[in-house]
Amino acid sequence: MKWTKTLINTLREDPGDAEIDSHKLLMRAGICRKNGAGLFTFMPLGMRSLRKIEQIVREEMNRAGALEILMPALQPAELWQKTGRWDTMGANMFRLKDRGDHFMAMGPTAEEEVTDLMTNIISSYRQLPVTVYQIQTKFRDETRPRFGLMRSKEFIMKDGYSFDTDAEAADKTYWNMYKAYEKIFARCGLKATPVQADGGDMGDSMTHEFHALADAGEDGIASCPSCGYAANLERAERKIEERNDAECPAYEKVATPNSRTIEEVASFFSLPPTSFVKTLVYVADGTPVMVCVPGDRDVNEVKMKRLLSAKSFALADARTVEEVTGAPVGFAGPVKPAKADIKIYADFSLKGARGMIVGANEGDSHIKNVDLARDASIEQYADIVICGAGDMCPKCGAKMELKRGIEVGQVFKLGTKYSDAFHTVYKDENATEKICIMGCYGVGVTRTLQAVIEQSHDKDGIIWPASISPYQVVIDLLDPDNEEVVKVSDELEKTLEDAGIDVIVDDRQDRPGVKFKDADLIGFTVRVVVGAKGLSKGGVEIKRRDQSKEEMKIVPPDQAFDVIKELLV
Ligand code: ATP
Ligand code: MG
Repeated sequence: MKWTKTLINTLREDPGDAEIDSHKLLMRAGICRKNGAGLFTFMPLGMRSLRKIEQIVREEMNRAGALEILMPALQPAELWQKTGRWDTMGANMFRLKDRGDHFMAMGPTAEEEVTDLMTNIISSYRQLPVTVYQIQTKFRDETRPRFGLMRSKEFIMKDGYSFDTDAEAADKTYWNMYKAYEKIFARCGLKATPVQADGGDMGDSMTHEFHALADAGEDGIASCPSCGYAANLERAERKIEERNDAECPAYEKVATPNSRTIEEVASFFSLPPTSFVKTLVYVADGTPVMVCVPGDRDVNEVKMKRLLSAKSFALADARTVEEVTGAPVGFAGPVKPAKADIKIYADFSLKGARGMIVGANEGDSHIKNVDLARDASIEQYADIVICGAGDMCPKCGAKMELKRGIEVGQVFKLGTKYSDAFHTVYKDENATEKICIMGCYGVGVTRTLQAVIEQSHDKDGIIWPASISPYQVVIDLLDPDNEEVVKVSDELEKTLEDAGIDVIVDDRQDRPGVKFKDADLIGFTVRVVVGAKGLSKGGVEIKRRDQSKEEMKIVPPDQAFDVIKELLV
């Protein structure tokens, strides 16, 4: 394929709205063009990589026994109403009406659609287990579309759904998919780490997210270098050493004018934040609760939500705080709040804490010498803070590390949430009707493409893994008017193509510098330079994109193919 025929359009400048390297490179290398906020066109170059990723996903899903289908992206509202998600999906879901005045959704995901479909197909245990999947466009009206394909309004997802006879079989399917995901990301050249994640609406059910570790990642991950435990920060737990502070005298009130935040109070008392209890008022499903954590920690709202099995959980507004505490915002504490029957939850690291300083539930005042067990009525101690670096691993006790990750995929045990709603049943060997156990499995196909770029680039551009490079080989044809040079280039192009290797020949009438720069920017896996000067010295120059100039090989044209093949392995 010749460069001049492929509509390649690289940019010299980074786009103004691109914050992270992979977004800049995506646009500069001409992989994508922006159409609007969170909306992108895949250009011919980008399409090639995208199709290769899709093909890897397809092959591994098929190999795992899943069956490809294609459902409409446009979904009737009735399906969503059946599970109540028409209401709970909120503003994230694009909604519209057809001409008959029927509400529809532009599918953000497809659990309802697939369950409805399969309910009408599954009747006997003989059809189970079955997993279906599709590679389809999804729509989400994200609060902040950003980072290019990472968080867009329209993106391509591989979504798969499994139906099993019982929990044991569903567990087997889950781990089968988990293994397929490991293969998918490895084949795409992406280092993706599986981490435990929060089950969201599904409560405590099992789920793993696959994260491409990268500083630009939006998610925090706690991981243990010793035993391999890894969890999304929303979920990550920690081990705590039992605490039994020395007895303290009776508590007393201290005037703390204008000191509200932990920093302000800490500097007022000249004590570290760990001497304080941070108390926050939240509203869980309409009922206010108090949450106490050590002064140097933050409340993990996801853990709290799960602890309370709450549908909604959010910080209380100022009025509620005043009603609950009897004080202006900033002085809440667990000792005698105005609302005496409020439930107070404390982090388990505060169990046995004595001599603490807490808000006095009174303006400009704090209380010191608080023994939580003695002076406050704590409903429950639980792990409710966000893990930090150095926290102890819940499995082995070693110090954990914090990393950042890009969620490229997720596997999820759904249980019977959807099969209950749609009455997805099968008849067992005794003709007894039983409910199907479901699982769902998503890969962000377009996000994966960009995550590869985020993990694999340098200051000059993208470094594509051979498996998903738009073209595996670029031939920089330095003297397009020199017959001898063109002949060598044409022959090599044909040999490569015949061997099933994608090759593009930069046949532009441009200076070598321009060609090298573009080849590096787009990041084709292997670069071959064919020019008159080189040939007169007996060869073509070959180097992989991630190799240095010093590692470049100069080989006679008839050996080029073998050298290239070796570099592509
Ligand atoms: P996030 O937490 O990043 O919003 P999610 O957990 O809501 O993602 P899922 O419902 O698990 O996403 O969707 C499966 C996969 O689809 C995700 O793992 C991710 O790779 C991809 N994905 C989700 N939202 C987007 C988006 N707005 N743009 C691109 N890819 C997305
Ligand atoms: Mg997810």
